[in-house]
Parts: sequence; C-alpha cells; structure tokens
Amino acid sequence: MEDVGNKVSVHYADEVLNGILITTEPHIILKLSSGYNIVLDKKKITKMETITKKKDPERKTAPAQQKNNHTVSLLHTGGTIASKVDYTTGAVIAQFSPEDILSLFPEITEHATINSRLISNIQSEMMRYHHYNILAEAIAEEIKKGVSGIIITHGTDTLHYTSAALSFMLDNPPVPIIIVGSQRSSDRPSSDAKQNLLSALFFITTTHWKGIGICMHENMDDENCLILPGLKVRKMHTSRRDAFKPINAEPVARINYEKRHIDLFDKTEKSVGPFSLKKIKEDLRVGIFKSRTHMFADELLFYKNYDGLIIEGFAIGHMPTEKIDSKTGENEKIYDTIKKLCEKMPVAFASQCIYGRTFMHIYTPGRELLKAGVLGDYCDMTPETAYIKLAYLLSNHPKEKVKELFNTNLKGEISERT
Ligand code: ASP
Repeated sequence: MEDVGNKVSVHYADEVLNGILITTEPHIILKLSSGYNIVLDKKKITKMETITKKKDPERKTAPAQQKNNHTVSLLHTGGTIASKVDYTTGAVIAQFSPEDILSLFPEITEHATINSRLISNIQSEMMRYHHYNILAEAIAEEIKKGVSGIIITHGTDTLHYTSAALSFMLDNPPVPIIIVGSQRSSDRPSSDAKQNLLSALFFITTTHWKGIGICMHENMDDENCLILPGLKVRKMHTSRRDAFKPINAEPVARINYEKRHIDLFDKTEKSVGPFSLKKIKEDLRVGIFKSRTHMFADELLFYKNYDGLIIEGFAIGHMPTEKIDSKTGENEKIYDTIKKLCEKMPVAFASQCIYGRTFMHIYTPGRELLKAGVLGDYCDMTPETAYIKLAYLLSNHPKEKVKELFNTNLKGEISERT
C-alpha cells in the first residue's frame, strides 16, 4: 500500500484517478486536484502507484533572540496550538517543534528571552497522570533556573484538568505559570494562538502575580484575553475561542495586548513558603460517575476496586436513592451500593450543575448520602477539579486524612462564599 500523503495514480474500474492519498483504512480516500475527496471501494482498484512522495514537514529554526530583562520558559506539550493543518489531507496534526512556534510568532522574543522545551507532543485527551508528573518536574527545573515565569502550551480539551493538577502538585510557585491553548491551529490566519501567547507573556513580564492560571480569549473578538484561576476554570464550548470560563470564581486579570493594558483583579498576597512538588501516583484509579434518572445500582459496582470515586450528582446534592413507589425499588439498591463503596474508598459528590455550591444537608436524600459517608458537602468545585483533587490527595495522604482534606479548601478550589 502506498503511503498516506503521497500523490498516487489509481486504476479504478474503467478510469485512472490521480490525487493525494488521505486514508487507506477502512476505505481508500483520495483528494482530487479539484479539492474534492472521493471514497473508493478497494475491490474495484486494480492498480495504485505513487507519482510523488509526500514532503516531510519543513522544520524551522528559531529566530535570533534579543537580550531581555526577563527569561520565560516555554514548555510545549502539544495540542492544537502546536498543530498545523496538513493541507494535503485536510487533517490537523500535532507536529510543531518549539522552534516552529518561535519562528511563527517572533514577537514573543521581544518581551523576554525564551527557553523553549518540548515536554511532549500529544493531544491533551491522551494525557495520563504520568504527563502531569513530567510536566511538574520540568516546571520545577525551570523554576530552579530563576526564570520570571513559565508558559505551557497545551491542548484545550483537558487543559483544565492539567491546570488543576499543577495547582495541587506545586506548592508556593514563586512565579506565574500560565497554560495557553488555542482553538485554531497556530498556522491558520484565524488562529487565537498568537494573542493568547503574547497576552500570557505580557502578563508574566508586567505583573507580580504568582500561581497557576490559564490564558485564553475573553470573547469571540480579538480584543481581550483573560487569565483564569487554574482550579476554577472549565472548557464550556466545543469550538469557540472564548471556550474557557471561570466557574464559581472571578478572572485573575484581563489583558488587552494591543493597548498593552492589564486589569489585575486578583490582588491577594500569595503565601511565600518554600516551593515544593508532590506527584500523583500513576497506578491510581479514580473514577467519575455521572448519575442520571433510571440508573442501576450495579453500574456503581464497577468501581468497587477503584481507589476513589467522584459522583456527578444532581444540583445541591441529590441522587436517585429513595424508594418512592413500586417502580423505584432500584433506588434503594443504589443507596446501599454507595454506602458499600464509601466503606472501601473516598466517594465524593460534585454537582452536574457546575455553577453553584452543594448543600447536601438540606434535603433528606442529601442527608442520607452524607450519612453513607459521601464527601463534598458545601463545596463548589467542578467535577474535574474534584476528580484531580481526589487523585492528588490519595497520592499523598492516608485514606482518613483524604476524607478530612477533601472538604477543606487547600489552594482556592473551594470558594469561601458563593
Ligand atoms: N484535541 C485537542 C487537545 O486538547 C484540541 C485542542 O487543542 O484544542 O489536545
């Protein structure tokens, strides 16, 4: 079989078709010179040969850097921001090198001397706890070098999981650590990458804020970017450039890069203890279970050998746990199963509503869940932050302590008041 990306000639039924080979499985797809894709039935192909081989992506060299007062480390993990459209196949592929980003956006080097490092080159949906650990280690190394701040380029799909993980894993970061993604690949004229990157850099070199934040567009136009708090943020849209919203929190800052203006909203003094890093155990199993109407108790049993479980329940703290009539007997079994799981592992509640706080002690079903041992009352963490917090706590504390700490605000993940 010829290589995907090659220009090929295909003898198909009575015709000869020339085009770029886009896929070979399960069908052969050719991009014709008209730009249209055509799907071919393999059985009707009598011959296929390569006319020209695909070109390997051109690697750029980074521009020469000016001397700057600030040194900022740019750690690359992959995602759309590090991808480009392969115009032969039409697919977006993660293939940027750190040098590619610098050569695409040479303005970056006007604000700071950039240390660019490749940590991984993957779409963020592929990440595991291992990737949080290697990223946190790389951050610790860069901090030791005395940089002014760190920018992490990252896929947007799970960017909020990573921002939560780093927020728990890194104690007292002495510099800003800003995660930046983009919804359009960096090589597209419409890409949001450049503004997100430059705004993050401008924020790092202009303010004295410390901590873990993310920098993305505030709305659909290119006017402002927001720095959002790493533990209270979520991707709320599949494709818009302003997909990330603060959840149960205010933005840290608004940046208008064009006007070189920053409104810093978070003026809290961060504690200045020693910097340290605590990893997440890579063999841990923590689940997120979404409760719904007409669910069954045995679905929960799937988690019986896990180390911890987040239950995404309803509103302020409810689950289908009461037998109301002859049709709701399953609910009692659900309650008993939750109780059994709570005896084996920490089980915590997070609301499907996303916005707002849990008040499990108000109605009887919520009180019964608390009696069973479910954690998470009076919390306003997103399910994703709750999930990462549970993994972090289980990695670093004995089970009883995990239960105590889950409901305690450690790093700003639970707001004081809503
Ligand atoms: N699937 C990509 C990722 O999260 C999407 C993106 O970067 O926007 O890595």
